[in-house]
Amino acid sequence: MKFETKAIHGLKDTEKGNCEWNNTINMASAYKTKSFGEPQDFEYGRVSNPTRSELEKLMAILENGKHGYAFSSGMAAITSVFTRFKAGDHIILGTDIYGGTYRITTDIFGKFNLKYTFVDATNLDEIKNAVRPETVAIFIETPSNPLLDITDIRGVVKIAKEHGLLTIADNTFLTPYLQRPLELGIDIVVHSATKFLSGHHDIIAGIVVVNDDKLAEDVWFAQKAIGAILPPFDSWLLMRSLKTLKIRVDTAQNNTLKLLEFFRNHPAVKKVYSPIEDDNKGKEIHKTQASGIGAVFSFILKDEKKVKTFFENIKIATLAPSLGGPETLVTHPSTVTHAEMPEEEKNARGITNSMVRIAVGLENIDDLIEDFKNALEK
Ligand SMILES: *Cc1c(COP(=O)(O)O)cnc(C)c1O
Repeated sequence: MKFETKAIHGLKDTEKGNCEWNNTINMASAYKTKSFGEPQDFEYGRVSNPTRSELEKLMAILENGKHGYAFSSGMAAITSVFTRFKAGDHIILGTDIYGGTYRITTDIFGKFNLKYTFVDATNLDEIKNAVRPETVAIFIETPSNPLLDITDIRGVVKIAKEHGLLTIADNTFLTPYLQRPLELGIDIVVHSATKFLSGHHDIIAGIVVVNDDKLAEDVWFAQKAIGAILPPFDSWLLMRSLKTLKIRVDTAQNNTLKLLEFFRNHPAVKKVYSPIEDDNKGKEIHKTQASGIGAVFSFILKDEKKVKTFFENIKIATLAPSLGGPETLVTHPSTVTHAEMPEEEKNARGITNSMVRIAVGLENIDDLIEDFKNALEK
């Protein structure tokens, strides 16, 4: 089956709820013991739940992995994965990773003596040079946020294999519809399912998918031990949303391609950032590891003093963080998503005050262009 068919029919061969296309929502927190002393699939809701377990199977199918796990947020998923590390372990991460991942690494796991190095992950030599005897893992995110830089997934896997390191990829921006890191050799895929996977700006959720059985057991152990699980209703809602993932991403991506064209050619715009810009040095690599660009891009306004005017004059697009929903959202990376990054670091990377990030939604493209045209003219 092709991707969109799997999203709709993929669970057919696994046990279903009471209806062919609409799983039951099983809200029980505990299950009757059928036979004393015998293990059973469902005993206690934190450990496993029938609705969550259906979603987990579906996510494994879509990422082309063997085992899926659903968490109460993307950060809960990432945190649960990180708990496999121990004091003294060293992890290499891209500088451009999600702010929350940066925060748990430095401010939480740092306290437990986990060591880390942030490198420009677009440069494989920097990753290679950061490997130490105590290095255990490499964490990447591609395309990155808000610069849409590309990390060579196969290159990272090769370095990791040479040094016996675990690889973790945050696949939130592209979803398994456009990029499947496990197929390229990555060990652990993590998601903020809050974004495209749920797709409606209405739930907070996280996903982990792995292939290896031993690794799966560890993730499952962390999930049940820590308990940051996705509730049954949200699991059901996420499964419902996954059925339309392809058409949502297709539409948002088509809108993005047209908006990129518009922004590139607008006199008030200095520069556009996307995986397909000619000056994106990962452009060719991206084409070999993903089948699309997703629906997030950034641009630099020529006149920094007009950023506020721009935000004040958008009418259809909304000033808000997040991405991947029907509504087009616009945000200011330097004061919102990257507020905690040191000023010099931001400036060095080009995340200046005149940068705007757009997470494109599903509105009619003519309405969006009209909206942005008006705001840019102002
Ligand atoms: C939003 C996001 C996260 C965090 O997910 P939450 O669901 O907000 O906890 C992690 N990684 C990326 C790339 C994100 O966009």
